[in-house]
Amino acid sequence: MKTRLLFFVLASVAATSLDAIPDGDGKIALVNGTLINPGTAKVMPNALVLIEGDHVSIVGDQTTDFPRKGARIVDCKGKFILPGYIDTHVHFFQSGGLFTRPDAVDLTSVRSYKDEIALIKKNLPDTFRRYLRCGITSVVDIGGPMWNFEMRKIANSTAKAPRVAVAGPLISSVSRPQLDLGDPPIVKIDTPEQGRELVRKLAAQNPDYIKIWYIVNAENPVEKFRPIVHAVIEESHTRKLRVAVHATELEAARTAVEEGADLLVHSVTDKLVDEAFVRLLKERGTILCPTLVVFERYGRTFAGKLNLTPEEKAWGNPEVIASLDVTKLPPDKVPERIKSALANPESVLDRIQKTYDIALKNLKTLEDAGITIAAGTDAGNIGTIHGPALFREFQLMKEAGLTPMQILQCATANAAKTFGGDTGSKIGTIAPGNFADLVILKSNPVDDIAHASDIESVMKNGVLYPSDTLIK
Ligand SMILES: [Zn+2]
Repeated sequence: MKTRLLFFVLASVAATSLDAIPDGDGKIALVNGTLINPGTAKVMPNALVLIEGDHVSIVGDQTTDFPRKGARIVDCKGKFILPGYIDTHVHFFQSGGLFTRPDAVDLTSVRSYKDEIALIKKNLPDTFRRYLRCGITSVVDIGGPMWNFEMRKIANSTAKAPRVAVAGPLISSVSRPQLDLGDPPIVKIDTPEQGRELVRKLAAQNPDYIKIWYIVNAENPVEKFRPIVHAVIEESHTRKLRVAVHATELEAARTAVEEGADLLVHSVTDKLVDEAFVRLLKERGTILCPTLVVFERYGRTFAGKLNLTPEEKAWGNPEVIASLDVTKLPPDKVPERIKSALANPESVLDRIQKTYDIALKNLKTLEDAGITIAAGTDAGNIGTIHGPALFREFQLMKEAGLTPMQILQCATANAAKTFGGDTGSKIGTIAPGNFADLVILKSNPVDDIAHASDIESVMKNGVLYPSDTLIK
């Protein structure tokens, strides 16, 4: 009895001192856990996963022989091992806080946009660690200033950071001068030739995506911007660059896909999708990222009805979260949009519900039709918290009627397809030769998707981090 107790004490001491155990001899053997590969919906009990250096070298079961010499054995009995999650829609130039989109609510008299951007850059390593804390080992930053390419470089040379794919500035039908400090994240394009020129300039930075912001309003009907969409996609595809399009209206989304968009970065929210649209996505192999969480967060923040999950409260940046309390603003500085939302929160919540009535149904229709859905949050926008927002996205995907395994597939194997290239083929699945990016859970996410956040430890690039060591 005593020796058993001593063993437990020693084991727990060992467990707490695991902070970023380097690969040592380069080998870690995860044994006795249940391996879940959502891409194939395969669940393998008593699995063996051998990691050598930055990659997985052997996947087997308890009968599989492996070279034990020099390997650190990690007993995963009762645990669940999954590929690291992937959030395919984030923006690192935005904090998720109240001051991050002065084009939506101008609070620059409380905090200047210059100060906001400086803070975001300073907090970048912290933001990266929060992603890992949430088991998110890869993200796609789907649009921002030219600084995004610098950010990708920083991420890819930082151990405690997710892998990052990026797009540069958004090629847009509308301008956002409030966000222009000399390196604008959004660039209004008026002619096809201007669009081609920007693609050529971006191509020099080796972007993972070219991003189009297809905003439709009274002055910008769908057809007006179409020639630019056409030119940008043609110019990008000539250079083997993929194109991601923001298009939340059915007709804009349809036009984008007809013109060759590779990725739709949001749900369609104005209408239920029709059969022709579903067929078109299927024929073209277009991927769609629903970003359900962002649709509620601007409105809820402004109305004082923010519904952050326990994960967001625990693992989101506390200063960002504190900024979202609109009741703390100096009374004379409250912008009209927030005033009217605070005065009439019910109508705000009502509008959000109407958006979900359509977006959730559309997600289910597309999932049932076999369209590739990649999970993503639009984190960085006001109220959408970098890192743990993904777990709210999972809840909403569940409300749409997706099974836990389908949701996990969207956040792993499907999401990896948005990366493309060499990295895309080595993430999203635990298989020999792939990057050793994975998450170890204490409870089974296939039983209940809420367990996806019950994270014991996270491995990125072959280095195992107990989850509670990743953020202070
Ligand atoms: Zn976005």
